Amino acid sequence: MAETESRPTNFIRQIIDKDLQSGLHNQVHTRFPPEPNGYLHIGHAKSICLNFGIAQDYQGQCNLRFDDTNPDKEDIDYVNAIKSDVTWLGFEWQGEARYSSNYFDQLHAFAVELIEKGLAYVDFSNQEQVREMRGTLTSPGTNSPFRDTSIEENLAQFAKMRNGEYKEGECLLRAKIDMSSPFMCMRDPALYRVKFAHHHQTGDKWCIYPMYDFTHCISDAIEGITHSLCTLEFQDNRRLYDWVLENITIDVVPRQYEFSRLNLEYTVLSKRKLIQLVDEKFVSGWDDPRMPTIAGLRRRGFTAASIREFCKRIGVTKMDNMVEMSMLEAPLRDELNENAPRAMAVLEPVKIVIENYPQESVELLEAPNHPNRPEMGSREVPFAREIYIEAEDFREEANKKFKRLVLGKEVRLRNAYVIKAQRVEKDGQGNVITIFCEYDADTLGKDPADGRKVKGVIHWVSAAHAVAAEIRLYDSLFTVANPAAQDDFIACINPESLTIKQGWVEPSLAKVNFDEANIQAFQFERTGYFCFDKDSTTSKLVFNRTVGLRDTWAKIGD
Ligand code: ATP
Ligand code: MG
Repeated sequence: MAETESRPTNFIRQIIDKDLQSGLHNQVHTRFPPEPNGYLHIGHAKSICLNFGIAQDYQGQCNLRFDDTNPDKEDIDYVNAIKSDVTWLGFEWQGEARYSSNYFDQLHAFAVELIEKGLAYVDFSNQEQVREMRGTLTSPGTNSPFRDTSIEENLAQFAKMRNGEYKEGECLLRAKIDMSSPFMCMRDPALYRVKFAHHHQTGDKWCIYPMYDFTHCISDAIEGITHSLCTLEFQDNRRLYDWVLENITIDVVPRQYEFSRLNLEYTVLSKRKLIQLVDEKFVSGWDDPRMPTIAGLRRRGFTAASIREFCKRIGVTKMDNMVEMSMLEAPLRDELNENAPRAMAVLEPVKIVIENYPQESVELLEAPNHPNRPEMGSREVPFAREIYIEAEDFREEANKKFKRLVLGKEVRLRNAYVIKAQRVEKDGQGNVITIFCEYDADTLGKDPADGRKVKGVIHWVSAAHAVAAEIRLYDSLFTVANPAAQDDFIACINPESLTIKQGWVEPSLAKVNFDEANIQAFQFERTGYFCFDKDSTTSKLVFNRTVGLRDTWAKIGD
């Protein structure tokens, strides 16, 4: 990672500074704990940059730990996708990837310890009864009739649970804490449930699985995590986190700190909703370039550095807010403006015939790869009698504000000559299909000799040499800023989130080797930043528009 990326500061780093100064810790150890039940999204990137970024800056460690206590919803494919996304973002975890399931034996032993201390019991109440006994935010809960079962009896029942003698839902192991606690999570929360499920790591070894709150704190302690960073919805659960660790025999006591989740406008960042988009085929897959997943952003052409920079800019606080999409795009646009080689592509072509240009002649014109960076070199662009320009760059009549090609007027072709439109040919519907022009042969790389001023510059490709390309343009996936707040977020899907153009690109682009691991970005002059899509083949080029040249989000809602 670039040395130039400066260190952020935030309330969590201030706590760490204090803990290091006071000698409470002499090394920092964090973890990123995804559940392998979906692909990582940009919200996870915030957590990844926080946890791995702290480990980097403090010469500490960060573990990657799969929080895999719910085998029904988890899958090894998700494990692999998560690993590759974290790596792509530029981070390295300490040692091997960990799994909460690595600790199932220890977790089981700690559950037995709680039972032996009279702090956990097996409850045979059904789901409905358990819910009723829990009470509400304004009224206390009631004790379960199984709360006072003897320790011996509980040990025997838990052993039976573990041996598969009870059906799913027939019983639960619960912590014995306080049914009148103001914190719902402290009203005798479940620690273990029966589940006859095959697990991607432990196979069929277990038919009881520990609950998240019980598992997470113990996994942190086993791994020697010093600062356990999670999102605000776990604020109350911190009581339970601390309660479990106080009541079992374990040395290290990590501390949990909460920060606000990332919410991003015009998209959804909940795995449940993202899964629905994939399963119900509203998108082509987890890596659809419209998805806010790391895989989708990568395919769209986002760079890891721009995502890290975004995470730095949004910061880490305890305040819930909604971040604008332009915040995500800005660092990317800055980076691509600096680094992306320029090229010419016509998305919606109309043909030009330059009547005074020799029939068979072809010139190879030199075009700089970057206007301000001569070290990026140049390339040859063929110029000939027939070219394509963008249909919207021509009008039969226009006022002075339209600095493109107008009938009877001149415009400069980028990296080439000045042309003048003489007449047009139309189809039966009145659409212009060919524009007949003349060129001024004495304008290559210089202004017209007689001092005529030609203000507009448009891009073009040679009709005979250009390569056909499918060009995919993206708009936001949703039509409203906060789709998650709607009753039916599916109804807010933008029907125009993907527009496909059959365009033409300059021939130099057909020679680029595209490589999924190292996506090449281009600025197509005047139309935006683009990259090869993974659907590209040598016989069919496919490009994604990563982002436009300028921020267009501001105008939404006007
Ligand atoms: P979702 O609600 O999308 O299912 P999750 O919190 O269940 O997300 P996990 O796989 O458990 O997903 O998340 C792993 C880590 O990433 C957790 O520490 C979680 O707090 C963090 N995280 C998830 N979503 C966001 C977000 N939008 N912003 C910041 N951190 C997040
Ligand atoms: Mg979670």
